[in-house]
Amino acid sequence: MSSDCVFCRIVRGELPASVVFQNDEMMAFRDINPSAPTHILIVPRQHFASAAEINDQTAPLVGRMMQIAAQIARDEKVERSGYRLVTNAGPDGGQVVHHFHLHLLGGRRMRALG
Ligand code: AMP
Ligand code: ZN
Repeated sequence: MSSDCVFCRIVRGELPASVVFQNDEMMAFRDINPSAPTHILIVPRQHFASAAEINDQTAPLVGRMMQIAAQIARDEKVERSGYRLVTNAGPDGGQVVHHFHLHLLGGRRMRALG
């Protein structure tokens, strides 16, 4: 938990969010500044900074976050058209919020990486 972390504040109910899924270990809500017609963030309730901090304790949770992302993609009707799952880490990754999260992007054709 981190008191000034925007995603911890959403998890604690201190900031509003457009929640599409939640359970005891994660929340999924719509990105406030969407980059695609479907842009959902999957966020663990537990605070850790980025993919660089995934460890033996959190790795199973990250796997379940990807499983839930696929379920949300079905619910959002982008499973057949396709989607992108992204996690940004550190400065060159363009990470802005230092609480690990997955971006689920769909509803438009993504550009090739590079
Ligand atoms: P990044 O850290 O680069 O993966 O990006 C963080 C993402 O969080 C950006 O796409 C922001 O638009 C999004 N974001 C920041 N604050 C909020 C918020 N209060 N509710 C929903 N999305 C947010
Ligand atoms: Zn946090």
